[in-house]
Amino acid sequence: MGALSQAEYLPRSAMSIHAHPDDQEFTVAGTLAKWARAGCQIVSVIITSGDAGSNHPEHDETYKPILARLREREQRAANRVLGIQETIFLGYPDGELEPSIALRKDLTRLIRKYKPEVVVIGDPQAVFYGSGYINHPDHRAAAQAALYAVFPSAETRLIFPDLLKEGYEPHRVRRVYIHGVEKPDAWVDISDTIAIKIKALRKHKSQLEGWNPAKLIREWAMAQGREKGLRYAEAFKVMYPNEEQPENRSSQSRSKEQQSCTDRCQGDSEVVHIWKGERLDRRGQQGKQRQRQEVTLERLWEDVTPDIHPHDERRQSEAA
Ligand SMILES: [Zn+2]
Repeated sequence: MGALSQAEYLPRSAMSIHAHPDDQEFTVAGTLAKWARAGCQIVSVIITSGDAGSNHPEHDETYKPILARLREREQRAANRVLGIQETIFLGYPDGELEPSIALRKDLTRLIRKYKPEVVVIGDPQAVFYGSGYINHPDHRAAAQAALYAVFPSAETRLIFPDLLKEGYEPHRVRRVYIHGVEKPDAWVDISDTIAIKIKALRKHKSQLEGWNPAKLIREWAMAQGREKGLRYAEAFKVMYPNEEQPENRSSQSRSKEQQSCTDRCQGDSEVVHIWKGERLDRRGQQGKQRQRQEVTLERLWEDVTPDIHPHDERRQSEAA
């Protein structure tokens, strides 16, 4: 099964780092729930509190701190469902995130403090998903800051030397799980935890506004698992900055995988993604009429190719 045995890797500790409340639930919650059930200690780091996540005309900037507290409560509730022990909000402003040195340092501090075996992030390179979804810049900034916090910052003694004075010694992360990538090389079987993923996602009531994401989440997970014969899966690229790659991912089997992927990609005129455009809130020009457009699953499947890139939500309401 090649990369499949990757699915059975169960870290003892992990840190999930994302820009907004609900990013984690849309993308990697099945994997986190699986790891948590196996005894993994998980820290969930949410860089902003999603305080731009409303387009209701009655809300002005005075609503932002109220929304932030609401979304923090939703995230904590989701993490309780997933079995995540600790939730940390860094309080950066939603919609204005940059991959700054300050953010990298904050994440470095957390990695050195909690010493996770694995860090889970989005794709720092993703700008486009299909032709419908422009990746939210906060997602990309979060992923870039987190990746570079893992390497080199967390493990290099003389980067951010004041962290040493704070008592945070260098830490080497073994693996980085990156979701939403163009060419995944590891698939986690989430058949036993997809219901938990959906339940956790539904805790983000302020964003879902009554919409039930179950069908969509199952369709995404089926699409991701299909290539590997899994009923439901989440797909990743895995980096091993401080670990030998598993035996089953020998250079020969890797190059085979890569070759088949290359063949597929060359066969397609463009890389096509699953995107979260299935739920798209649009406001009329006058801001009075609200029209909800739900793209049908038929449309979703038109957009699916063997290269699957389920990723971030396209929801105008989440300017987050
Ligand atoms: Zn987001």
